[in-house]
Amino acid sequence: MTQKQTLSFQAEVAQLLHLVTHSLYSNKEIFLRELVSNASDACDKLRFEALDDSALYEDQPELAVRVAFDKQAGTLTITDNGIGLSRQEAIDNLGTIAKSGTRDFVSRLSDAQKSSASEQGQLIGQFGVGFYSGFIVADRISVESRRAGLPPEAGVRWVSGGSGDFEVDDITRAERGTAITLHLREDASEYLSTWRLKDIIGKYSDHIALPIRMRKEEWKEGENEQPGEMVTTDEWETVNQASALWTRAKKDITPEQYADFYKAISHDHEAPLSWAHNKVEGSTEYTQLLFIPQRAPFDLWNRDKKAGVKLYVKRVFIMDDAEALMPVYLRFVKGVIDSADLPLNVSRELLQESRDVRAIREGSTKRVLSMLEDLAKHEKDEAASEEDKAKYGKFYAEFGAVLKEGLGEDFANRERIAKLLRFASTTSDTASLSLADYKARMKEGQEAIYYITAETLAAAKNSPQLEVFRKKGIEVLLMADRVDEWALGHLPEFDGTSLQSVAKGAVDLGTLQDDAEKKAAEEAAEAFKPVLAKLKEALKDRAEDVRVTARLVDSPACLVVQDGGMSLQLSRMLKQAGQKAPETKPVLEVNPDHALVKKLDGSVHFHDLAHILFDQAVLAEGGLPEDPAAYVKRVNALLV
Ligand code: ADP
Repeated sequence: MTQKQTLSFQAEVAQLLHLVTHSLYSNKEIFLRELVSNASDACDKLRFEALDDSALYEDQPELAVRVAFDKQAGTLTITDNGIGLSRQEAIDNLGTIAKSGTRDFVSRLSDAQKSSASEQGQLIGQFGVGFYSGFIVADRISVESRRAGLPPEAGVRWVSGGSGDFEVDDITRAERGTAITLHLREDASEYLSTWRLKDIIGKYSDHIALPIRMRKEEWKEGENEQPGEMVTTDEWETVNQASALWTRAKKDITPEQYADFYKAISHDHEAPLSWAHNKVEGSTEYTQLLFIPQRAPFDLWNRDKKAGVKLYVKRVFIMDDAEALMPVYLRFVKGVIDSADLPLNVSRELLQESRDVRAIREGSTKRVLSMLEDLAKHEKDEAASEEDKAKYGKFYAEFGAVLKEGLGEDFANRERIAKLLRFASTTSDTASLSLADYKARMKEGQEAIYYITAETLAAAKNSPQLEVFRKKGIEVLLMADRVDEWALGHLPEFDGTSLQSVAKGAVDLGTLQDDAEKKAAEEAAEAFKPVLAKLKEALKDRAEDVRVTARLVDSPACLVVQDGGMSLQLSRMLKQAGQKAPETKPVLEVNPDHALVKKLDGSVHFHDLAHILFDQAVLAEGGLPEDPAAYVKRVNALLV
């Protein structure tokens, strides 16, 4: 005896369905991910219940999902042989929303009268609405199911058009499990294609550990001059990889398999430089499989570039480029994070707020840093192979400049990041010196780690600012990455020693300058005072101050900025990039021992000489005089 019943949806379901059917969808295809994921869950549940009662398998222990379509009827059917639904379960589970998270989400969405239909649509698209997402593409859904262990006569058919109510009926169903048939809307006929469906399954469900099968297609030659066509056969083939690599034990995975997986997710053709695969247990449980590529992508410098980490929840793909999982300065890392705790329907918005996500992000950041520390350790390890020794240098050449951003972005790990940095210096041309190396080489009495930033390493190396350091035999770190000045600004000290830009503030060599030198400098400054006053007057529109310096040996003058100010180079760079830079006037420092400077006093060309001195200091810095023509004119006037 069949018992047909028409029932109303719970209010929230009706609301949700209304939203689903009346909003625009940017990402319709996710319905398949949701239904396949439900099918996979149903199989997991059967497997779990069968642990106590193996009879539930009904002599059919192989679990699988089948996806099939009927072009003529316009239907798409997703079938599983999982736990199935009893009549009451169909009424309860497909007529109400059980999960409080989804309920809250729906009422929040419906409350938000202010948001437009398309905004709501986008939100739902990202959120995922489980079973009901079928109504994105279908105007009628029929579910036929039988719960494992119940007799064939205990089958149920559930049918709904996705508005106020649904119908349930008893049926006889020999097969255990559930078949969900979507009667596709006219504008959803694209899903009646093997190619399209395979593509979606590959994208979202490749790593579902269960086989997903579709009917094999074959090319049939046309007869009697008719064109040939693809025809579906009765044979089923598995269309997903059916294995989530990261869920397997490390010892069972070869380096080649890791490399293949990396290539598949990153679209890189080279193997990764390094990887880390771990199952993290504790208050937040997740698996991380993270890769460092060998080469930087062309758009590495775009800070808006999405992170390369995919988020899975219990082996179900949730989203690409989950930026909440990695800090921006590690945007070159690729991989997979598979969480056991997050809800399947988590959105980007919710990710930002989740405490679990914060824990995952912290854990993954630390993991990447320790991966890098391991690579760096090999650099100086005698026992390491040449290949391993070279790895960190290779990494640094590609990604070092990005890593530096971490000094400003990741306060908690600043010390660890600082240890990973490498620099060129006045005595070492390659960027291979760590701050610890530098410290170990500091001269007795040297109180700071000195560095200079410039547009190129050559410009840095030849800067007049370095003259006194060279004379005293003090090593100075050379920096020419765009981020250097900004990044180093966030590192006031390393391991108890302060970092100091040689182009900022007055130079203080501390105890490296002996008393006689200090005295001589003071006397020179005193004697030079009247000339300084005249220079200040002549250059008052261009220089903040003019003072005597101890930093120059061979050059007549140089420009410095006040302590804490922005370097001329950085402000030039910002202007070039069309950004606003503060208009700071530099300080002109002159070398009273230089012939040109000595000549100033009493010269009839004082005004021109003052400007030439200033412009030359700009040139020596790698800049251009404000008025190049005027500069040339002045120099020529003196030459003739
Ligand atoms: P959930 O996020 O709980 O999966 P859904 O709306 O997708 O939410 O599904 C609601 C419920 O319907 C599920 O929790 C499950 O009990 C049941 N269900 C959905 N699909 C199937 C299926 N293929 N087999 C068995 N039960 C299913």
